[in-house]
Amino acid sequence: MKLHIDNNNFIDTSRPLDISIPLRNSEENPKAWYVSAPRFEAVMTDQFTGSVKKGGSVNFRNVFFNPHGHGTHTECLGHITEEVFSINETLSEYFFQAQLISISPKELVREDGEVDLVVLPEQFPTINPDVEALIIRTTPNKITKKSMDYSATNPPYLDVRCVQVLLDAGIKHLLIDLPSVDRENDNGELAFHHAFWEVPKNPNFERTITELIFVSDEIIDSNYVLNIQTAPFENDATPSRPVLYKIKKS
Ligand SMILES: [Zn+2]
Repeated sequence: MKLHIDNNNFIDTSRPLDISIPLRNSEENPKAWYVSAPRFEAVMTDQFTGSVKKGGSVNFRNVFFNPHGHGTHTECLGHITEEVFSINETLSEYFFQAQLISISPKELVREDGEVDLVVLPEQFPTINPDVEALIIRTTPNKITKKSMDYSATNPPYLDVRCVQVLLDAGIKHLLIDLPSVDRENDNGELAFHHAFWEVPKNPNFERTITELIFVSDEIIDSNYVLNIQTAPFENDATPSRPVLYKIKKS
């Protein structure tokens, strides 16, 4: 259906551009933070068989997974606060004006000789003033992002100075195709997370970070309408399905 945003623009709801990575019962599922693959296990007891293939009347599976480590998820400041604030309570809107940008992280040689790949503040293009959600696709945009085991690989991350660029542009929701906005090993500092949510000085309950998305190359850098769909978990993070819609002229 055509959904009009205003007199001049509409989205076609039959043309969603899904930028989530699905959760799969497979070793091919992406992994980060040293978690092993998700497990989907049929419930089996003396009285019950949770598998049709094995003679049960229904498939009834327990799913074991970690929202941060196993795929696309949206998180709030509860990720880094003593009280585990809930993304289900803090995120109360689901449609946003969004902008998709592509950035190639820069090589940075550290004092210990390790080479990091870092998104720097000067790499950001102009952000449209109407936009509340920014989607960052890092390049190269390899398909292996959908099945990568990121643990102990020192993945690319964002320089903490990027936070000021986002806040100056009025960005409330940041989406990225990396396992974290911070360095994998930063001795627990989580500098970007703290700066973006202004924890502990001025905690911001409205802003969210969505990690481990995948934006295929057919989706071009532009402005979109973003729908963030989240599973209603009372937790700091929840699996999510961000969906983009092209803005069309009527
Ligand atoms: Zn996370």
